[in-house]
Amino acid sequence: MERQFLFQVYPRQPLVLVRGRGPYVWDDRGRKYLDFFSGLAVCSLGHTPARVTRAIFRQAKQLWHTSNLYYTIPQIRLAQALIAKTFPGRVFFSNSGAEANECALKLVRRWGQPATGDWKGGSTQTRSEVITFHRSFHGRTLGTLSATGQIKFQRGFHPLLPGFRYARLNDVASVEQVMTPQTCAILVEPIQGEGGVVPATPEFLQALRRLADRHRLLLIFDEIQTGVGRTGTFYAFQQLGVKPDIVTLAKGLGGGLPIGATVATPAVADLFGIGDHASTFGGNPVVCAGALEVLRTLTPAFLARVRKMGQRLLTELQKLPAEFPVIREIRGRGLMLGLELTIEGTPLVDACRARGLLINCVQERVLRLLPPLTIGEPEIRAAVQILRDAFAIMGP
Ligand SMILES: *Cc1c(COP(=O)(O)O)cnc(C)c1O
Repeated sequence: MERQFLFQVYPRQPLVLVRGRGPYVWDDRGRKYLDFFSGLAVCSLGHTPARVTRAIFRQAKQLWHTSNLYYTIPQIRLAQALIAKTFPGRVFFSNSGAEANECALKLVRRWGQPATGDWKGGSTQTRSEVITFHRSFHGRTLGTLSATGQIKFQRGFHPLLPGFRYARLNDVASVEQVMTPQTCAILVEPIQGEGGVVPATPEFLQALRRLADRHRLLLIFDEIQTGVGRTGTFYAFQQLGVKPDIVTLAKGLGGGLPIGATVATPAVADLFGIGDHASTFGGNPVVCAGALEVLRTLTPAFLARVRKMGQRLLTELQKLPAEFPVIREIRGRGLMLGLELTIEGTPLVDACRARGLLINCVQERVLRLLPPLTIGEPEIRAAVQILRDAFAIMGP
């Protein structure tokens, strides 16, 4: 039926999931799986966390949707809570990561157009080029697909949106090479997720900040995967000594409900005037009530525990390469870790699933681990043991 009634765009694994609780999901045959994928870094508090469930039930009984032609309280409360964790600024809520980035890209256009707003730079030249990176991932809309520096996603969908130039991550010279007088912004993931769990170095991001300041570029961090506690701080950038002008969020923000957020400094947010951007569903009361509970859960003590568990998981994983030389490198931060292999990762994903562990593979050879941020030591040990068993059957 799935093949008959749905677009055939997902390489689905042969698994029908029907229930989730904490770090576990169950399939339609009652089999239990330890979930080290978390619905792609979305169910960060585990599945059906009680606090969030209560909050969305409470809101569902009160008011579901009003449109943004009226004020609603959960949206404003959520924005306040989010800004308290970011920098002084304002938020635009949407429904997905791609939309959060689209909003950022539209802000870039405004930033580069002296004709609009009250720009007083004395020049009539407009700038609209954005520098992004090879192996980046920013979404599947035409705009964010154009920003994404991977041919495999773009093939067959030309013409793309013009004005994107791709540089190499952690290579400042390559950024300077693609800069032109039209360059207006730099968009970067602090850790490339889909690109293979590849961290940008603090020095590189600091150099981007200096370049941006020198040339009046907007620096945009796509924290759609790295944000909301995934790397052990609310934002990954908080460990890197750099502050962006715009940061985008989605995945973990709603704990499993669809939400995107674009946060910008007041000066940048105010480049948009009334009517310049909108979303029918953006800031939906039920979703915002749930996301607010997610944010309330992410206390400094909770984040300290994420860092601790991330270290535990990393320490356990680092024992594996000595046993299995097919593991080339282990990298990442907090609870976003990748194991680069010398072999294809899919058979390992399958072997783990057969043993009750859900993980994911990106770029053919990188196993990506994204456990719930609430994960404990027994589950970490269980997951690494399953990984060990899976590697063992792969042979040398
Ligand atoms: C997942 C992801 C996106 C796209 O989010 P969608 O909700 O699928 O549109 C964008 N950027 C990064 C870094 C992501 O990981």
